[in-house]
Amino acid sequence: MAETLSREIRLKNRPVGLPSESDFELATVPMPTPGMGEVLVRNLYMSVDPYMRGRMLDQPSYVQPFQVGQPLDGGCVGQVVQSQGGKFQVGDYVLGRKGWREHYVSDGAELTKIDPTLAPVQTYLGTLGMPGLTAYVGLLDIGRPKAGETVFVSAAAGAVGTVVCQIAKLQGCRVVGSAGSPDKVAWLREVAGVDAAFNYKEVGALTAELGKHCPHGIDVYFENVGGAHLEAALEHMNSFGRIALCGMISHYNETTPSSGPRNLRLAVRKRLILRGFIVSDHLDRQAQFYADMGAWIAADQIKWQETIIDGIENAPKAFIGLFKGENVGKMLVRF
Ligand code: NDP
Repeated sequence: MAETLSREIRLKNRPVGLPSESDFELATVPMPTPGMGEVLVRNLYMSVDPYMRGRMLDQPSYVQPFQVGQPLDGGCVGQVVQSQGGKFQVGDYVLGRKGWREHYVSDGAELTKIDPTLAPVQTYLGTLGMPGLTAYVGLLDIGRPKAGETVFVSAAAGAVGTVVCQIAKLQGCRVVGSAGSPDKVAWLREVAGVDAAFNYKEVGALTAELGKHCPHGIDVYFENVGGAHLEAALEHMNSFGRIALCGMISHYNETTPSSGPRNLRLAVRKRLILRGFIVSDHLDRQAQFYADMGAWIAADQIKWQETIIDGIENAPKAFIGLFKGENVGKMLVRF
């Protein structure tokens, strides 16, 4: 018998500090019905991403805030289960933006058909998707590394970081990564093939530790974390170095803004470029990204990991886990 109900996760309160599961609620709603030219999609995977924390605040940003009492949204991969015409057929796998719910109706404008034979479908939410493109654009276009240079990557074992490390190796760079557990560090060294990796939670002084791994300084810092990581990187940046400001996850749950970096003056003396970027401004690079990433994957030159949490009811837990380092590689929720 056809399903008549569907479930979605709504924002119950705007979180203060680290979100808790009580900031979210699971709601059961009638199954949406597609009109003419529309499709009904059943989600198979949804992405949880650090940027969603910013959307839980009621403040202007480059993307609209989530509304209290309404379902959240975000990247998702699903399958068309009903079609009332249009360009998508029943059975098609599609990349969409209506995560945090089991089903949704679309007129197809926001959907991209994906090929499940190229890679497992959930890869389009990770290495072949937004985090992969972020790594590609942030490293190659913003960081502009040259062969022989040293690239330092923070949150190196995450969705973006793992790809940055491996693309930097493919450019002939010396790559140093920091991550928050021994398993992550081992994966970076043994599978991703970085030159050095360390567990920032186990080292005493981050600046001194980073110096040990970067004897010739840092030419490109791929910034995912902020705070102490940025200060440590600034100390070791070489003159004319580039800092690609991708994200600063250590600040996302702050209730009062922290001061710092205390040593930003070094950017003057060292003639550094610090440049923030948002991946959605670089969609013109998507075709080249698919071509290069497809070739690297086919040649087994890019590896990735996924942490998969089952059940829509566990999506808040998966999201909160990003801020506790519970994911290795891409954090996903499977329905
Ligand atoms: P990850 O897969 O890297 O997951 C987040 C990781 O961050 C955690 O696993 C944890 O790893 C680390 N982390 C969490 N809290 C802290 C902390 N307080 N201090 C240090 N590390 C912490 O996420 P993504 O790859 O999706 O995102 C990585 C970064 O890229 C984020 O800052 C995100 O906002 C940014 N981003 C920016 C985009 C853009 O367009 N500019 C697009 C996509 C992502 P560990 O165990 O190592 O601590």
